[in-house]
Amino acid sequence: MPADPNRVIANLRELAALTGDANGAQRVAFTPTWQRAREWFAGKLADLPVTRNLDAAGNSWVTLPGASPRSLVLGSHLDSVPNGGWLDGALGVVTALEVLSGIARDCGGRSPFTIRVVDWADEEGARFGRSLFGSSAFAGTHSIAADRARTDRDGITLEAALAACGIDIDRIGEAAREREGIAAYLELHIEQGPVLERLNLPLGAVLGTKGVERHAITFHGQEAHSGSTPMADRRDALAAAARLALEIRTIATRHSDSVCTMGSVKTFPGIVTAVAGRCEVTLDQRDLDATVLATMFREAQEASRRFAAEERCTVEWSRIWSIEPIAFHPALIDLCREAIAETLGEPAHSLPSGPLHDAAEVARLGIPTVMMFTQSLGGISHNKIEDTREEHLRLAVTSFDRLAANTLRWMESQ
Ligand SMILES: [Zn+2]
Repeated sequence: MPADPNRVIANLRELAALTGDANGAQRVAFTPTWQRAREWFAGKLADLPVTRNLDAAGNSWVTLPGASPRSLVLGSHLDSVPNGGWLDGALGVVTALEVLSGIARDCGGRSPFTIRVVDWADEEGARFGRSLFGSSAFAGTHSIAADRARTDRDGITLEAALAACGIDIDRIGEAAREREGIAAYLELHIEQGPVLERLNLPLGAVLGTKGVERHAITFHGQEAHSGSTPMADRRDALAAAARLALEIRTIATRHSDSVCTMGSVKTFPGIVTAVAGRCEVTLDQRDLDATVLATMFREAQEASRRFAAEERCTVEWSRIWSIEPIAFHPALIDLCREAIAETLGEPAHSLPSGPLHDAAEVARLGIPTVMMFTQSLGGISHNKIEDTREEHLRLAVTSFDRLAANTLRWMESQ
């Protein structure tokens, strides 16, 4: 039985009404509102021949047992950022459940393969600054030592917040047990960017997630009086940083799909009457190609040293975080393109994802993975105005349902 897009949209609206307010979605992970979203979701399972379990990292799994224990997993995340949108994450989970329901009805509860829906815990990392919490525990790429030290704005530790939800931080790695038997993972998500809208396309097949180089860069100059220090005598740390802020745009535009962002600038002493003696900035660079990413990183470092020298400053770099580009599975990308082409009646477009997703953690394990994107209006996400046209949501549900069917056929041939 094909997935019913209208039911998906009605469910999404119901969830938004239950867990949002005038400022948007409030499903921040490990909060009561997030728990309410999950209880609402569990309530939707009443008539289905499924079981539900929480793994050791708090990921929620719904399982429709099949003739074979080999499983097709569909998922995304119910958590949101504070004042978030109604579709980010929720679209993928609610659609996944609709697809599972259709399969359960079609085969009288006995599918050839096991079908599972996963709602990953704390994809957003909005409260503790640690994105992809649940999926990285599943993938074994988390670090308990680093996670234990994390606190929210109110000084509550991640460890305590987890404990309040029945999760023991020392055991989150046991979520790896859920990997058993997974043959493929599919995730539907809004694009959260402007590419599909600009191309006037409702859907796209995702090639993978871009790698990220994230660094803190500090320029050291000399604090000096703004009135008495001649321009030629200054060692202005902000001037060096400002030149780098412009140069990274040139570096990014040398490559077709690259992005470079200087999102934070702090000056010291940071007063109107002093030349900045120190300037701390951050740099975030992303590309789907590891070689391109490494080149951009080198170019930014070289430029920073050149500008520092020209401004008679020094510069130091420290890596905040990095992740390699993660390509999705070629055969599943083809199946995704086919599903989109069948739905739209025209060739599918493929694109990389700039944002990271839980699917990247799954793909890192070598589990065949692909994502499908649907258009975001204005490219806006993490905002209450985040939206997608209903006609595009309908196409997304139908096309993702096709992708699941195509993938089950592909699993038979494996
Ligand atoms: Zn998301």
